[in-house]
Amino acid sequence: IKPIHVVGGGLAGSEAAWQIASAGVPVVLHEMRPVQSTDAHRTDRLAELVCSNSFRSDDWEYNAVGLLHEEMRRAGSLIMAAGDVHKLPAGGALAVDRDAFAEEVTRRLSDHPLITIERTEIAGLPPREWESVVVATGPLTSAALSSAIGKLTGEADLAFFDAIAPVIHRDSVDTTIAWFQSRYDKAGPAGTGADYLNCPMNREEYEAFIDALIAGEKTSFKEWEASTPYFDGCLPIEVMAERGRDTLRYGPMKPVGLDDPRTGRWPYAVVQLRQDNALGTLWNMVGFQTKLKHAEQVRIFRMIPGLQDAEFARLGGLHRNTFLNSPKLLDAALRLKAAPHLRFAGQITGVEGYVESAAIGLLAGRFAAAERLGRPCPPPPNTTALGALIGHITGGHITADDDHSGARSFQPMNINYGLLPDIEKPSTDADGKRLKGKERGRARKRAVSVRALADIDAWLAEVSLPASA
Ligand code: FAD
Repeated sequence: IKPIHVVGGGLAGSEAAWQIASAGVPVVLHEMRPVQSTDAHRTDRLAELVCSNSFRSDDWEYNAVGLLHEEMRRAGSLIMAAGDVHKLPAGGALAVDRDAFAEEVTRRLSDHPLITIERTEIAGLPPREWESVVVATGPLTSAALSSAIGKLTGEADLAFFDAIAPVIHRDSVDTTIAWFQSRYDKAGPAGTGADYLNCPMNREEYEAFIDALIAGEKTSFKEWEASTPYFDGCLPIEVMAERGRDTLRYGPMKPVGLDDPRTGRWPYAVVQLRQDNALGTLWNMVGFQTKLKHAEQVRIFRMIPGLQDAEFARLGGLHRNTFLNSPKLLDAALRLKAAPHLRFAGQITGVEGYVESAAIGLLAGRFAAAERLGRPCPPPPNTTALGALIGHITGGHITADDDHSGARSFQPMNINYGLLPDIEKPSTDADGKRLKGKERGRARKRAVSVRALADIDAWLAEVSLPASA
């Protein structure tokens, strides 16, 4: 069998190579370190963790990333196996000894008879004679390769500086205060005229909010990020607030054409939320990219009327990143529509985090191996964490480009329950005892997780590949 080429030996590339080889298909893994490094990596090991050593919560019953861990373990994940061997005490989280972890991944890949590791930079599009390629070169993809991908896909579709606005769970927004309306009731091509959730502010609330933004603690740029300019129209809100007290009121917080049903008038200022996923469970804060520290974002954004109890699925941020506008560019099997022999995996597809990147590597590896072996491999159902994650990047996301901040609307995302279809909140526990408020919310998470594991087992049985040839 001809080999599959994997470019990039980070979290996603290592997992993809492992899945392909485990299916009995040979792999050549191309990693540029140590010949050339990135601004964040420090070693020549495969699957190096560049910052924290945590894979976050390991609780599959009540936490979406814990659920993703468990699904990956069931799918024979190398990253999870190496993480489990080298775990450190960290309460409910899975933290790992970063050196021993990366050493373990490197050793297992090097020892596999079907895997060849080549330490070279792929400095441009991979040669066409490589019939099947998985590109997993991460947020710090080398300049030569990222510019080649940019040219192939259209430069505007590969971001180099990433402004992330916070995303909120819809059911935590107080709709006795916030109301649905598009500016001047405009319906647009796919809209109803009531497409935004609007949170109103009076003058005092607005002034207090501006003061809090200016005083709020911000994260600083990494040295190598500082020289990257802001995209036009992509300024952090706290920078806009510093430029003038009314700048936001004439920018992302402008109230014109929005009638507060409680007063029948336009408020002094408005924060708009826009639907972020097809299920309608997640809503993003329009134009609210920020470098405020995470705890400060929660504190300050809960000052916004209607968001006093907001639960955040993702907080805002601004850092250098390289990722595709995947909902537009990739098919459901992670292939580039314009060049289907190129498949993408990891953070470059628009997921965020070590575990999510490895998860997409796992799927890309399985898809590529199945294709090579002439076997079907549909994506996992969207009721699973793996299926919800790939659904977010390849289809489930709203791709409207109507954000007046100038940022495209597809943004990287961690796994969270808002990406999975909801389930009715159970009213009783397993023993028939009646559940109250918060208990019902917890029981719902567990029910979603139990459904996910049953569905991932069924999917794995359906797509099982022959063991190593
Ligand atoms: P990577 O793990 O970065 O792997 C990509 C690999 O491709 C690298 O080994 C690179 O050397 C190689 N490569 C690049 N270009 C080429 C080329 N042309 N030819 C050959 N090889 C190439 N996530 C978290 O979960 N927690 C954190 O604390 C965290 N902190 C971060 C801090 C920084 C500064 C950055 C940049 C990212 C951070 N992330 C964090 C995100 C993290 O990088 C990703 O979640 C994860 O590493 C992405 O996995 P990946 O496999 O897609 O990319």
